[in-house]
Amino acid sequence: MKITRITVFQLDLPLFEPYYLSGGRLRFDRLDSTFVRLETDEGVTGWGEGCPWGHTYLPAHGPGIRAAIETLAAALIGCDPRSPEQINRVMDVTLPGHPYAKSPIDMACWDILGQVSGLPLWQLLGGETPAPVLVNSSISTGTPEDMLALIERAAQKGYTVHSAKVGGTDIGLDIDRIEAISGGLPKGHKVTFDVNRAWQPAAAIEVLNSVQARDWVEQPCETLDQCAHVADRVRNPIMLDECMHTFGDHLEAWKRGACEGVKVKPNRVGGLTKARQIRDFGVSIGWQMHIEDVGGSALADTAAIHLASSTPEANRLASWLCHYHLDVDPVPGQGARNASGQAVPTSAPGLGVTPDPQALGAPVAVYEG
Ligand code: MG
Repeated sequence: MKITRITVFQLDLPLFEPYYLSGGRLRFDRLDSTFVRLETDEGVTGWGEGCPWGHTYLPAHGPGIRAAIETLAAALIGCDPRSPEQINRVMDVTLPGHPYAKSPIDMACWDILGQVSGLPLWQLLGGETPAPVLVNSSISTGTPEDMLALIERAAQKGYTVHSAKVGGTDIGLDIDRIEAISGGLPKGHKVTFDVNRAWQPAAAIEVLNSVQARDWVEQPCETLDQCAHVADRVRNPIMLDECMHTFGDHLEAWKRGACEGVKVKPNRVGGLTKARQIRDFGVSIGWQMHIEDVGGSALADTAAIHLASSTPEANRLASWLCHYHLDVDPVPGQGARNASGQAVPTSAPGLGVTPDPQALGAPVAVYEG
């Protein structure tokens, strides 16, 4: 089987309401998503999506995905999409780095492999059953009272696991937020305090040694070095996210004892192939993982839920779904959706999601042999 055509679509995904991270210093209104359709000489078609969370969250850029695919296309035409590992080697030789730009190609190859083998991705990725995955709520930065009200609203929708965004210049306010939320959670609920790298190491150590809360704290500082320094000096379990780009970063974090868990995001690390390698490493060393994508429609969310569902329950925490923040749905009603705080992957062969052609509009690029 050979890839014969690569068709690229661009779609703006407006958020329902502006979203603030990192103590309010980062604001997001809309996401720039790229959809990729791979066609083959045997008539099988696969879909992928790559969608950075704006261009200030990670070193990833919406238009960069399209530019990278322009560079990669000639090397991909003629390759067998049923061999995602080999496809990744071809992409890494043709364009080193730029993992986020390769993710939609890799995802579309997995979609084709699933369709050809007649198996859903959750099974190809190692799952025995389509296990339901807990869905994380996402609580935007605000006053302690506002954030607790958002958690209460999420709880009424069935969420039991929450990601509360903290991290500002006012350390006292962060201490208040953490204590109020940790102490005010509905019974049995769990929270992760996501700092989104806002603190300097000294602030992280001061805040975390001041609070009684012993909940997870995510990405307290910018770099792996800084986070490892903090992890050594606080009692909260640390989750790492934005500073983890390669398998080597994860290996380094493990060697240094920098975290007890990681966020595994296919778009950030280069696609399902590399996310699976990291997931399997995490299982082997006993990390707990949130497996979700950086952003995107229910297509990208569903790919991540396939990987999450196929992960042993002991190593799997909850997954966030980006598409619940969007004002558009280019894959109407399809894929893994939130049902009372849980999402179940589709059991159709492959990814199980096909975009609505009307929603995507005309392609922005077509590459063929
Ligand atoms: Mg995070």
